[in-house]
Amino acid sequence: MMLEFTEEQKMLRDTIRTFAEKEVAPLAYEIDRDERFPTESFNKLKNMGLLGITAPVDYGGAGAGYTELCIVTEELSVACLSTAASWGVHACLCIDNIRRNATQEQLRKYLPPLCEGIKIGGLAMTEPSAGSDVMSMRLRADKKGDSYILNGSKIFISNGPVGDVFVVYAKTDMEKGARGVSAFIVEKEFPGFSRGKKFEKMGWRGSPTGELIFEDCRVPAKNLLGRENSGALVLMSGLNTERVCLGAMSLGLARGAYECALQYAKERVQFGRPIASFQLIQAKLAEMAMEIELSHLITYKGAKMADMGLHRNMNLIASYAKLYTARAAMRITTEAVQILGGYGYMKEFPVERMMRDAKLQQIGGGTDEVQMMIIARDILGL
Ligand SMILES: Cc1cc2nc3c(=O)[nH]c(=O)nc-3n(C[C@H](O)[C@H](O)[C@H](O)COP(=O)(O)OP(=O)(O)OC[C@H]3O[C@@H](n4cnc5c(N)ncnc54)[C@H](O)[C@@H]3O)c2cc1C
Repeated sequence: MMLEFTEEQKMLRDTIRTFAEKEVAPLAYEIDRDERFPTESFNKLKNMGLLGITAPVDYGGAGAGYTELCIVTEELSVACLSTAASWGVHACLCIDNIRRNATQEQLRKYLPPLCEGIKIGGLAMTEPSAGSDVMSMRLRADKKGDSYILNGSKIFISNGPVGDVFVVYAKTDMEKGARGVSAFIVEKEFPGFSRGKKFEKMGWRGSPTGELIFEDCRVPAKNLLGRENSGALVLMSGLNTERVCLGAMSLGLARGAYECALQYAKERVQFGRPIASFQLIQAKLAEMAMEIELSHLITYKGAKMADMGLHRNMNLIASYAKLYTARAAMRITTEAVQILGGYGYMKEFPVERMMRDAKLQQIGGGTDEVQMMIIARDILGL
C-alpha cells in the first residue's frame, strides 16, 4: 500500500503547518489556562473551508478524504491538541457521521450550517454508567406519533457546553442490547434538551466537555440517523475512522513534544557540552523519532483504508493505530518533559501541557484496554 502523499496533500500539509505555527500555537497556552473553546482558530478554519473537510462540496464542505482529515488533524495537534480536538469532534464525529448516514433531506438541512460554522457539532455516546460497555446505554427513545421522546443523559461530551447539533445514540428497544440502539440528530433548541455540568479537566482543557440532559426531549422522527435499531452500525463504522483520527492527534502531539525536546537538547549546555551529546539523551531522542515514524505509518495506513471505503473492515488497523499512537504520545511527551528537566515542568514550555493532554489519548474513543480486547478478539477469531 503506497502511503506517499500526493502533491495536493503535501500542499495542504504545508499550508496547515504554517497556519498552525503562526495562528494556533500562540493561543495554546491561554486556551489551556482558561479552559475555553478556541473560537479564533475555529473561525479561521471556517475561512479556510476546513470545518466540513469530508463533507461534499455541494453542501459547503471541502469534499476531501480521510488522509486529508488526518493531515489537518496531525498539524493542528503539533500546535495545540485542544484545538485539534474541538475541530475534530465537529468535523469528524459530527459532520462525517451525518455525511455517511443521513438522508438527502438531513444532509440539506444540517451540513451547510455546520460546514459554515454557524452551528457547532458534537457526538454523544457515553453515559454515566455506560463507558467502555457502550451498548449498555440507558438513554431511551420512545416513538410517539411522528416524534421520539428521549429520556436520560450523556456524559463527557466534547463540545457539549458549546454545541448546537449532536449525533446522539439512544435505545429504541431496551430489551435488544446493541440491536436496540438508534442514532438521532438532536438540536439544542429541541424541547426537553438541556446541558448539565461542564467538567474541569487535567488536559484537553481548551476542548470543553459537558453533560447533556434529555427530559421528555421531543426529537422529530425524521431526525433518525440511519434505520431504527441500526445505530450500532452507525456507531461502529464511525468509531473506526474516529480512532484513526485520534491516531493522527497522538502523532501530532508526539511530534510537537519531540521537536521541542530536540531543539532544547541541542541548545542546553551542562558539563560544558550540549545535553544532546550525552548518549542517555540520544537514546531517548532515537526512540522518540522511531515511534513517531511508526505512528505515522500506522495512522496513514488506516486513513488510506478508510479512503478505500473499508470502514467496516478495519477494526484491527483502527485499534492498532489508536493504541500504538496513544502509548507513543504518552511516552514521548513524558520523555520530552524529562529532557527539559526542571524547565519541562514549568508552563513556560509547552511540554508539560502536552504530557497532560497525552493521557486522554489513552482513554477517549475507547481505552487502551478496549483496543487490546478488540485486537485479541480479532487474532483469536472470537
Ligand atoms: C475529555 C473527554 C472527552 C470525551 N469526549 C467524548 C465525546 O465527545 N463523546 C462521547 O460519547 N464520549 C466521550 N468521552 C468518553 C470516553 O469515550 C470514555 O471516557 C471512554 O470510552 C471510557 O469510558 P469510561 O470513562 O466510562 O471508563 P470505564 O469504561 O468505566 O473504564 C474504567 C477502566 O476500566 C477498564 N475496563 C473497562 N472494561 C474493561 C474490560 N472488559 N477489560 C479490561 N478493562 C476494562 C477501562 O479500560 C478503564 O481503564 C470523553 C471522555 C473524556 C475524558
